[in-house]
Amino acid sequence: MTYQYWHPDIETMPRPELEALQLKKLRDMITYSLRTPFYAPKLHAAGIKGPEDLKTLDDLKRIPFTTKHDLRDGFPYGFLSIPKEEVIRLHASSGTTGTPTTIYFNREDLRRWTSYVARCIYGTGCNNTDVFQNMITYGLFTGGLGFHAGGEEVGMLVIPSGSGNTTRQFRLMQDFGTTVVHATPSFLLHVESIMRAEGVSRDSLRLKRAFAGAEPYSEDTRRRIEGLLGIDVFNSYGLSEMNGPGVAFECQCKNGLHLWEDGYIAEIINPDTLEPVREGETGELVLTILCREATPILRYRTRDLTGFYTEPCACGRSHRRIRRITGRSDDMLIINGVNVFPSQIEEVIMAMKEVGNNYLIEIEKDGVLDRLTVKTEVGPETFMDDSRLLNALKERIRKTLQASITINPRVELHESGSLPVSEGKAKRVYDKRPKDV
Ligand code: AMP
Ligand code: ZN
Repeated sequence: MTYQYWHPDIETMPRPELEALQLKKLRDMITYSLRTPFYAPKLHAAGIKGPEDLKTLDDLKRIPFTTKHDLRDGFPYGFLSIPKEEVIRLHASSGTTGTPTTIYFNREDLRRWTSYVARCIYGTGCNNTDVFQNMITYGLFTGGLGFHAGGEEVGMLVIPSGSGNTTRQFRLMQDFGTTVVHATPSFLLHVESIMRAEGVSRDSLRLKRAFAGAEPYSEDTRRRIEGLLGIDVFNSYGLSEMNGPGVAFECQCKNGLHLWEDGYIAEIINPDTLEPVREGETGELVLTILCREATPILRYRTRDLTGFYTEPCACGRSHRRIRRITGRSDDMLIINGVNVFPSQIEEVIMAMKEVGNNYLIEIEKDGVLDRLTVKTEVGPETFMDDSRLLNALKERIRKTLQASITINPRVELHESGSLPVSEGKAKRVYDKRPKDV
C-alpha cells in the first residue's frame, strides 16, 4: 500500500526532532498561559515566570493538572490569553458530563486546527476527487465546522448536511455521489437500518469511507458498520477542550489512532495515583495543546481511558498511536460493587450477529441491590413471534454478559428499530438509582 501524507516532513519527523519541536511550542504556550487569569498564578507558584523556565519537556510535570471543573470555574474568560478583538470564533463542549465549557480561537488558531483535520482526512486515502457529506451536528459542537473546514482544505466537495433527516441524507448521497461521510458510530448503525426500511440499495450509493467518532465504540461495532455498508470506517478522536476533531485519527492501517504530537503533548496517568502508567498500559489521557494561542490548556485530564501502542506503525508516521478509547474514568458504573464500563457490555452484544443495531443499559434499585437491565434490538431477520428462538437468544446474551462483567443482567429483546435513537451522541446508559444512597 502507498501511504499518503498531508505534511510528510512533520508526519514522519524523527522523534528527537519532534520532541525539540514540542519543547519550542510548549514554551510559546507558556507565554500565552501566563497572560491568562487562570494560569498566571498557578505557573508563578510552580516557579515558572517565563518560557525559559522550561528547560526540558519533563519540566511540564511541574505544572498542575487542569480539570473540567477548572474550565467551568474559569468561565467565561479565565483561560483567554489574547485581546477579545483578536478572537474570531468560539466553540463549546457538548456537555456530555455537565455544563459546557468554552474555547476561543484567533485566525491562526483556526487555520492550524483546519490543517490538523485535513491531515487526518487525507491520511485515510481521501483527496479532491471525493464528495464528503458531513452528517454531524453543526453549531457549538466542534465536529461540524471542524470537519467541514478540514474537508474543504483537502479540496473535497463538502456537503454540510448536518445530522438527522436520514431520508434527505440518502437523497444527497445519491444526487451528488457522496464517497465519504462523517457521523457518530451509532448514527451509522442507524443509517443502515433505515436504508433497508426505505429500500435504498448499497449499489445506488458510491460510499467508500466513513469517519466515526465523538463516542466510544468497539472494534466489533466498526466491523459491523463496515460489513453492513461495505465501506472503510476510521476512528476519529477529539474533544472541544483540545479544539475538537484532529487530535488523533486512524491512518490507512486502521490499527490505533496517531495522536498528532506536534500539536499535543500526551501523557497517560493512573487516574487514582495520578502517576504516569508504564508505556503501553491503559490509563487516563492527559493532553496539553501546542497549537492554540487564544485558549492555552495545559495538562488537561480528559478522563478518556486509553494506552499507547509501543511498536511503530507500518505507515511510517512517527507520531505515537493510542488505542481505541474504551470509556472514561468517570463513566464507570458500580453495580452491586462491581465496576462495569458500558463499553464492555457493548463489546459483548455487538459481537453477536443476531443482535440488532441499538441497545440501552438501565440500572435500577431492586430492594437493597442494584439491577442491571440490558435492552437490545434484534436483527431485522429475527421474528419477534418465534418465542423459542427469542428465549434462547436472550439466555445466550445473558450468559455471555455475565461471563464478561460478572453480573447477572436482565435481558430484554426489542423489535428492530424500536429503541430510541439520538442524532447526536447516543444516550445509552440510564442510571435510575437514587443519587444519595
Ligand atoms: P466533546 O468535547 O463534546 O467533543 O466531547 C469529547 C469527548 O467525546 C471525549 O473526551 C471522549 O470522551 C468522547 N470521544 C470523542 N471521540 C471519541 C472516540 N473516537 N472514541 C471514544 N470517545 C470519543
Ligand atoms: Zn499509521
